[in-house]
Amino acid sequence: MHAALPGQTAASPGLPGMPRLRRPALQLADHLAIRRAFKASRLAVRPLALNIQLPFCANPCFFCNRCRIIAKDRSKANDYLRLLGTEIQTVSKQLDPCQQVRQLRLGGGTPTFFSHRALTQLMQLLQRHFNLSALPDIDASVAIDPREVDWATLDLLRGLGFNRLSIMQPSLDPRVQTAINRLQGDHQLAECLTAARTLRFHSIGIDIMAGLPEQSLHSFRQTLDSILAWRPERIRLTRYHHQPQRYPTQQRINRDSLPCAGDIATAQTWLEHQLRAAGYQRLQAGLFVLPQDPLAMAAEDNNLHRTAAGLSGLSNCDDIGMGLGAISQVSGLAWQNACQLASWQQRVARSQFAAQYQLPTEVD
Ligand code: SF4
Repeated sequence: MHAALPGQTAASPGLPGMPRLRRPALQLADHLAIRRAFKASRLAVRPLALNIQLPFCANPCFFCNRCRIIAKDRSKANDYLRLLGTEIQTVSKQLDPCQQVRQLRLGGGTPTFFSHRALTQLMQLLQRHFNLSALPDIDASVAIDPREVDWATLDLLRGLGFNRLSIMQPSLDPRVQTAINRLQGDHQLAECLTAARTLRFHSIGIDIMAGLPEQSLHSFRQTLDSILAWRPERIRLTRYHHQPQRYPTQQRINRDSLPCAGDIATAQTWLEHQLRAAGYQRLQAGLFVLPQDPLAMAAEDNNLHRTAAGLSGLSNCDDIGMGLGAISQVSGLAWQNACQLASWQQRVARSQFAAQYQLPTEVD
């Protein structure tokens, strides 16, 4: 899962039926309450879901509203990794070594911005400080940008225990890609998916977007048709919301190039119809899965839960987010880490919790 900016819940793509982007008066995180929440989790020896944010990207996508750092110099990732190690230590000290990790997510940014060595070191760090003994038999996912991954990297990730890929492919139309500054050819997606299937990743999720500049109904349909041919286990539709005052990179998008609300609604309806016809099940607005996906199986068992960190098939599990802008939900308390790199660095370097804002708790 990608870290959303403060005041915006992670599971809020803004589609009908989904929680809209929330902008409550931001409440500062209460670090004493967080310590108590960790203690309750530790005493109950609750299982954990780890959510690690690796927020670097080589280029800015103009639609992006996430906590991320655009950097050409890849050595910056090493400094980040060093501090992330400190945060991992600080947080793990609050928990019991017996608490078993049942889910692991590497989100971004672009996790594969990090070198093979750095990704391997990160996994070693996590294994040193958390109980990852159930790996590779847990749901372990990594966010993938097809422009930033090759066969060798996917092979490495598979070897490190990852079994699920979450791939961002907003559109396959070159006109749209130019308008959003994300040139990502069909061949890159095809190579990534071919490698992923060959390496036997259990589940592949693809995120597409509606409401992008220069996007027509025709190009939206073509994108979906091409993606459906790969039968990914999950397809998520998110809708672009133009908020250039709030997200400065969106100022690079020409308002006049955006599709009208009617076309976006038609695209959404058409997508839902196509996906249902292709055997997908709608778990929530914008999220469709094939029956073999773990989330579909959890839904079938009546065991689907919404947490501040997203939809989960695990019950009684605490979400531990680490890294810039990461979201946690522990013992019923939810918070988000600082999204400004300097604030996050300062807190982590002092071995403090990086939590900055309290979030509304998502439970059901
Ligand atoms: S790769 Fe993802 S996080 Fe990075 S700028 Fe693009 S959308 Fe944002």
